[in-house]
Amino acid sequence: MIPIIDGHLDSLQSVYLPIGNSRSLMEASRQGHFDLVRARKGNFAGGLFSIFVPSTMDFNYDRKVFPSKQDAGLMPISREYARNIAQKGIQSLYRLAEKSSGRLRVSTTLKNVIANMNDNVISAILHFEGAEPIAADMTDLADYYNAGVRSIGLVWSRANAFGYGVDFQFPGTPNTGPGLTDAGKELVKACNQLGIIVDLSHLNEKGFWDVQKLSDGPLVATHSCMHALTPISRNLTDLQLDAIRDSEGIVGINFCTGFLRKDAELTSDTPIEVIVKHITYAIERMGVDHVGIGSDFDGTTIPDGIGDVSGLPNLIKELFNNGFDETTVRKIAFENWLRIFSATWKPE
Ligand code: ZN
Repeated sequence: MIPIIDGHLDSLQSVYLPIGNSRSLMEASRQGHFDLVRARKGNFAGGLFSIFVPSTMDFNYDRKVFPSKQDAGLMPISREYARNIAQKGIQSLYRLAEKSSGRLRVSTTLKNVIANMNDNVISAILHFEGAEPIAADMTDLADYYNAGVRSIGLVWSRANAFGYGVDFQFPGTPNTGPGLTDAGKELVKACNQLGIIVDLSHLNEKGFWDVQKLSDGPLVATHSCMHALTPISRNLTDLQLDAIRDSEGIVGINFCTGFLRKDAELTSDTPIEVIVKHITYAIERMGVDHVGIGSDFDGTTIPDGIGDVSGLPNLIKELFNNGFDETTVRKIAFENWLRIFSATWKPE
């Protein structure tokens, strides 16, 4: 079975956020998309475990796509509030690792990830979806690095001290507002220096080009799809794809049906085929070395044919059925992500 590295999953939220059905992720469950038992079944080798701080605790994922402008889900949040929740999130991942009986480890180096793959252990990589927990003067960035954070999305789909996120407009383009703030530009440079991935998913287009000019690392969009196929503001335009290719970067294809379907509808009654279409387009535009997976498990509505993390092999099967060869499938499934880790992170 081909192992899978996932550029983005929101599953940790069911542990650290006091909303919805809280789960430990330890035992097999029918709720949500991810737990350690189903992950093994799906040959899930690891992924970027997102720490996300919602604008309000009555946050409802169904409102993440096409909310009204007044929707509280897109309102800016304070740094103190964000920091408190993020700290709970980080603790919850270490606790999960501790209680997992060796099934999951928090991973901070490529060496860790490869060793875990050989030992059949899941690698959990700490990712901030939105940089609100970080002080604008970045005095605490090194602390977060030391706590294991290896990937930072400058923004979620709202404004913060560092930049401006895209909200969810369909049809719409990612060109929704101004570029990075001065603090945002400094954060990109600091991430480059420390060896932290800068995630461009949720960033608006001007911010994207600011990062493209500033960053010396590969451009990474952990969970986004193709704007040419689904013209929603959250997806990437052809010119953005070209820049990602030229930087030796990657796009993790999102399983969100709202980003995959022509009509952008959020319905699980959607064939896996649409994911293959976006992957095919991404390969045609950028080449096989720049496409990966960024499931968005537990953050959105995904096709029934995958269902949850245990259904990842169904996507692999679908790729083979569509004529992809083993070399290509392995790159999409995990090798391209390993290259990004190698190019971005410090060796130790
Ligand atoms: Zn997201």
